[in-house]
Amino acid sequence: MDSFDVVVIGSGPGGYVAAIRCAQLGLKTAIIEKYTTKGGTCLNVGCIPSKALLDSSHHYEEAQKHFKDHGIEFDGEINLNFKQMIERKNKVVDQTTKGIDFLMDKNDIKAYEGVGAFKDKTHIIITHNDDKTTEIEAKNTIIATGSKPNSLPFIELDKERIITSTEALSLKEIPKHMVMIGGGVIGLELGQVYKRLGADVTVIEYMDRIAPSMDKALSKELMKVMKKQKVKFALSHKVKSVERDGDKVTVKADNKKDEEVTFEGDYCLVSVGRKPFTKGLNTEEVGVKINDKGQIEVNDKLQTNVDNIYAIGDVIKGAMLAHKAEEEGSFVAEVIAGQKPHIDYNLIPNVIYTWPEVASVGKTEEQLKDENIEYKSGQFPMRALGRSRASGDIDGLVKILSDKETDEVLGVHIIGARAADLIAEAVTAMEFRASAEDMARMSHAHPTYAEAVKEAALAATEDRAIHI
Ligand code: FAD
Repeated sequence: MDSFDVVVIGSGPGGYVAAIRCAQLGLKTAIIEKYTTKGGTCLNVGCIPSKALLDSSHHYEEAQKHFKDHGIEFDGEINLNFKQMIERKNKVVDQTTKGIDFLMDKNDIKAYEGVGAFKDKTHIIITHNDDKTTEIEAKNTIIATGSKPNSLPFIELDKERIITSTEALSLKEIPKHMVMIGGGVIGLELGQVYKRLGADVTVIEYMDRIAPSMDKALSKELMKVMKKQKVKFALSHKVKSVERDGDKVTVKADNKKDEEVTFEGDYCLVSVGRKPFTKGLNTEEVGVKINDKGQIEVNDKLQTNVDNIYAIGDVIKGAMLAHKAEEEGSFVAEVIAGQKPHIDYNLIPNVIYTWPEVASVGKTEEQLKDENIEYKSGQFPMRALGRSRASGDIDGLVKILSDKETDEVLGVHIIGARAADLIAEAVTAMEFRASAEDMARMSHAHPTYAEAVKEAALAATEDRAIHI
């Protein structure tokens, strides 16, 4: 029987990063993945394919609506080849997942294909696709089995017309009217993809704003921009039934006044979050504790109640984000190797890859109020930047919140072109506990979108933004 220092179950961004870091630290490592391609949700049906479709649909929208502003004209029609768009997305996924195979080989990590299940706390049985099994010994195991799309109890997902994000990434046609349940990150990104490609899109959200985990200023601005793009919103609506009749899907919801509202479409995308996935692991056999949200319980070393079994990523508490899973992957490998790593969960950025992009780190204004922390706020609109006018991307703003006494930056919230990349500056500054004045005094190349960060920092420092 093969024996390993560490066996990782699941090859998503948590699992494969954990495996690489273990190997780098000299630990004999194996990884088990039930699907034929590695990379988990993120590479196969999450981050990467959704960004490929967001980019393709953004090019299409630009060509249709904005090229003429730049003096670029077409004689004929601009046609959409949706099949090619999906094929390109598949190719991007294929290249990216193959990259993980390469990294496993390069780091001498033994990769097994099949479902991993605990036999006891030091033995794992892998059931392969042909039902044959392999047993391996594991001094330590890292559970990185991720998550699956969530639904509502009364919804029957037929995966044809009533679908999750997984199916929405591989549709065969552009919906005429896509009714989306849930105005969170996945719903907003995919809603924008199909709106750009010509579908009518209605987002039904239970809360009174979209992107409810973000700072209110960003939710408001994003909704304003998406409304301009003709996406429809039904906020404070509680969905109570979803039914399909042939090609028609009917969604019924109660509004704030408890009146029933009916939405009809040809597709309904259920994007109400994700739930941890532990099926098939046989955790009962070893007594690993799972809480009532389905998450594996871990301590601050990401160790379960069984001392040689750890868990990371979407399957435990915290933000369901690829980069959070990656940080935990490295962290847990270093813990197993006897090091003392650290993760600052307050500094895990949150991003929505709509256009304009939305990105946020640290505390929101609402959180600071709830926690009775006195703060200063500085804001700068993207439209006041030379760079924004040059590209035509004038929507959005940067908002910086800093401690009233010390000026330490407590939160940075950005909506605008390339916000997903801009937020890295804020994470760096906050990691080094910079003040708003520190950020304001750093030279920012001109003309860039990043100048809005400097200007918002100036506004937070002394209300002395230059260009407004
Ligand atoms: P996963 O990526 O879910 O991987 C778990 C793996 O474990 C899977 O491959 C699964 O097959 C395998 N597995 C499960 N059980 C077993 C078993 N018993 N034996 C063997 N293998 C098993 N996050 C971002 O940060 N940025 C984004 O832009 C982003 N976009 C997203 C878009 C969409 C449409 C979706 C759905 C998600 C998106 N996410 C994004 C979230 C991100 O994909 C997840 O947070 C991330 O994949 C979690 O990583 P993980 O390693 O914990 O689990």
